[in-house]
Amino acid sequence: MRKPFVAGNWKMHGSKTSIESLVKGLNEQASQVQNVDMAVCPPAVYIDFVKANLTADNIVVGAQNIAEEPVQGAFTGETSVEMIKDLGCDYVILGHSERRAIYGETDAQIAQKTKVALAAGVTPILCVGETLEERESGVMEKVISTQLDAVIKVVGINAFEQIVIAYEPVWAIGTGKTASPAQAQEVHAFIRDKLARLNRAVAEEVIIQYGGSVKPDNAAELFAQADIDGGLIGGASLNAEDFLAICKAA
Ligand code: 13P
Repeated sequence: MRKPFVAGNWKMHGSKTSIESLVKGLNEQASQVQNVDMAVCPPAVYIDFVKANLTADNIVVGAQNIAEEPVQGAFTGETSVEMIKDLGCDYVILGHSERRAIYGETDAQIAQKTKVALAAGVTPILCVGETLEERESGVMEKVISTQLDAVIKVVGINAFEQIVIAYEPVWAIGTGKTASPAQAQEVHAFIRDKLARLNRAVAEEVIIQYGGSVKPDNAAELFAQADIDGGLIGGASLNAEDFLAICKAA
């Protein structure tokens, strides 16, 4: 069936000193985790440093964002997909709610970035999720559908063979408020059903991660849900022991 996949989103955290010790912890303990795909996504400036220090052969590296433009050029401050690929990234997180809310990324831009990543052979981890207000006003499914439709329209349903989806309810991110396993499962099933209407085989294969305050003590019950195939981990991924405990639970 689907192999669980857990990724750490380090967000804008770390220094060479702290990352060196985090990676050392991963190197020492990663072999305890088996039958789970694992990735860490450091800030772009530290990707090369992580690649140079990471010896655990069961953890790959991803980026947290890429430019919409597929090739290099006059785009001050941006990082192209080819650059992160050059550094050895297999994944890129796209459409994280922090990019949507703080930097104003639109569904159309996220779809374009997804297309650019796929064309370069880098697997997008496409984030979707509703705010608390959207959940409470009953438009949760509509919001998530719209976020997915924008990408489907640009890359097509079959491209989801090469895409990981991360369901991250905005109200659960960094708040310590996890969605209950049942709440998360309901949305994961909704996403899979939606894709299945377009292509059943693709929907059955697609990895759907849950993200939002996943910790070692709540991971197992979340990952036990039928449609939850792993997680996208923020805060807890900054501690090697916690991150690997979460991976083990998958
Ligand atoms: P936390 O695990 O810190 O809630 O962050 C989740 C997240 O946003 C991962 O992308």
